[in-house]
Amino acid sequence: MKVNYEKCGYCGACVGVCNCMALELIENRIVIHNEKCNNCKSCIIVCPLNALEE
Ligand code: SF4
Ligand code: SF4
Repeated sequence: MKVNYEKCGYCGACVGVCNCMALELIENRIVIHNEKCNNCKSCIIVCPLNALEE
């Protein structure tokens, strides 16, 4: 997963939906731990600003 930081509004919705703890909101920045990601794509679906991509 990648975050497009120009689109992200730091709402935290993706962090809440990720069951793998692969996303963190740290100091107004989404940090992705790709080694934990199972590629379920829930974060892409839930993002209201289309800021996540594979
Ligand atoms: S859901 Fe989208 S806009 Fe919200 S924090 Fe995640 S990437 Fe950013
Ligand atoms: S694809 Fe699924 S596991 Fe990976 S970061 Fe998004 S919600 Fe988490």
